[in-house]
Formats: sequence, structure tokens, C-alpha cells
Amino acid sequence: MQLNTKRKSTRRIYVGSVPIGGGAPIAVQSMTNTDTRDVSSTVDQIKRLAEAGCEIVRLAIPDQAAATAFREINSLTNVPLIADIHFDHRLALAALDAGANGLRINPGNIGDREAVRKVVKASKDLNVPIRIGVNAGSLQKEIQLKHGRPSSEAMVESALMHVELLESLGFDRIKISLKSSNVINTIKAYELLSEEVDYPLHLGVTEAGTLISGTVKSAIGIGSLLSKGIGDTFRVSLTRDPVEEVRVAYEILRALDLRHRGPEIISCPTCGRCEIDLFGLVDRVERALSGIKSSPKIAIMGCVVNGPGEAREADIGIAGGRGQGILFKKGKVLKKVPENQLADILIKEVKGLVKLQEA
Ligand code: SF4
Repeated sequence: MQLNTKRKSTRRIYVGSVPIGGGAPIAVQSMTNTDTRDVSSTVDQIKRLAEAGCEIVRLAIPDQAAATAFREINSLTNVPLIADIHFDHRLALAALDAGANGLRINPGNIGDREAVRKVVKASKDLNVPIRIGVNAGSLQKEIQLKHGRPSSEAMVESALMHVELLESLGFDRIKISLKSSNVINTIKAYELLSEEVDYPLHLGVTEAGTLISGTVKSAIGIGSLLSKGIGDTFRVSLTRDPVEEVRVAYEILRALDLRHRGPEIISCPTCGRCEIDLFGLVDRVERALSGIKSSPKIAIMGCVVNGPGEAREADIGIAGGRGQGILFKKGKVLKKVPENQLADILIKEVKGLVKLQEA
């Protein structure tokens, strides 16, 4: 579901069957962290990513063996795949030949103009988009010298140079990313760039860090841009299983009321009033419902101070008491449930509701 109507207007491109920009739902991406040459592990990870809601998956293609494996991986998966290429334009050509649905390149580092021309021509012939991926850590020397540091302005200048290069070769199936590990720089860079171009933008805060720091940086960086209508697709970057990136991505979209996928669990932090094992209960419920695509609202609250209020507002809710909980459904009290049955009954009720919603 797409609710924000104030998005910045951008051109539409397609990565495989997934529309990007031009008012399309904001697409969630991730990147495998397996060795691409290990087909079986990579396919397995792509399938887990797809199951979690990842709509586009990027793979690193560091050498010819990876490009060869890419063909087999592509034949064994159903998600659009993007080949991430650095330094060697022949790998980009090999990945296109192997069926890549998109390329992520830094045109400045894959060879001379002739090399870029070959990649652009092959992409154009196959109707495959190219993401210009500018990274603060690898700006062209002349831009670094001019700006003195990898500032937002420097990243934008680099992106615009690459855009001009591709446009001069008659190519416009472009999306652009401007990544920095500095959140403020990232936000400013995308804001500046969105004033300059109407190509779709791929958002991200690069090398964002571990689960907590990466989630916070991404939520602030990506979330603030999305809240201003900037951004057409994004990847949350975490030092973690990439499936976690997808979960965080959907939480960012949910928080902004842009897209909803998976149950929304509202739970309290607990305090001295809580008399049930709320942490254990929330963990169990969250794990049991992790594969659900629809998004029922579930309140799991520790006591009757705020519990009944939140539980009434949710589709299903529990307000804890001493060794028991009161079960709410659609705002009404259903029954009292002993603590040792709370998780099972809550999971059963939610699954029943989801079945009705999805029928
Ligand atoms: Fe504490 Fe109850 Fe609030 Fe949970 S709902 S934080 S247990 S007062």
C-alpha cells in the first residue's frame, strides 16, 4: 500500500519487473554477503531475502568466476538481480550476458570512455538500467582536490559528471545513489541531487554499522529523506545477516506509513508493575509470526496501566496481570488467559485473523 502522495516526481525505470520511481511503491533492496561463486549458499540467501520481502537483490561480481556463477544463480531464483561491478567493464558485460536485471557501477572506475560506451550499449540493447553508485570513500581525484573533502557537494558533482557521461552516450535508464557513512552528509547530498535531476534515487547510508547503530543511522538518514518525498528505492546496510536489513527497511516504511508488510507488534518496555515474562512472550510471538505478509496490529503490554488502552486499539492484544493476561480482539475483551498459554493463544488468534484477512 502506498500512502504518501507528496513524493518528488521522478522518471520510471524497471529492474526486471520491479518499477522504480514515477510514483511506484518504494522498493526494498538488499545485497548478498555470500561468496557469489558459491551458487548454493547465494541462492539460499536470495530465497531467504525474497521470503522476507526483498524485491531486488544485488550481488558482488568481483571476477569472471562470479559472473559465471551469476548465470546459474539467476536461473535458480525469481527476484530481479543486480550485478555490482567495480574496476573491470568486462565483468559488467559478462553479468549482462548472464541475465542481470540491473548494473551498479561507478562509471569512473570501470575503464575509459570506450569501456563505458560498451557497457552502456549492452545495457541499452537489453533494456537494463544502470545505477550510478557514488561513494564518499571513492570520489574521483580531481573532485577530491577541488572540494578538499568528500562533502555532499563533492558527491553530487561526481554523480552529475557520471550522469552527463551516460547521457552523452544516449543512455537514460539511470538511477543514482550517493552514499556516505556520515548521515548528515548523506541527507544533504540527496537533497541537493534531487533538486538537480529527476532520475530515481536509491537511498542508503553506507557502512552504517551493527544492528543498533546501523538501524539508527538508516532510520534517520533514509527515513528523513523518505519523509520529505525523496527516494524511490533503498537498502539498509548492516553488518549482519542481510535478512535483518529487509526487516529494518520495512519498519522504516511502516513508521512513515509508506508501506506495510508483516505484523506490527506494539509492546511496552516493562517496568516494576509487570508480572509476566513479557520479553519471552514478545520474542516467541514475533518469531512465530515472522513469515506473515499482512500487517495486523498486535499489542503485547505488561499490565493494566496502559495495556487495555493499547490492546483495544490493536487488532489483537494482551494486557498482562499477575500470572495471566486479558486477551482483547478488535477492541473487546475476549477472556482471561493463564500466562503459560498466552503465547499459544495469541499466535492462534493472530493466525486466524490473518487467514480471514487474506482469504
Ligand atoms: Fe509498565 Fe504496565 Fe506500562 Fe508496561 S504497560 S511499561 S508494565 S506500566
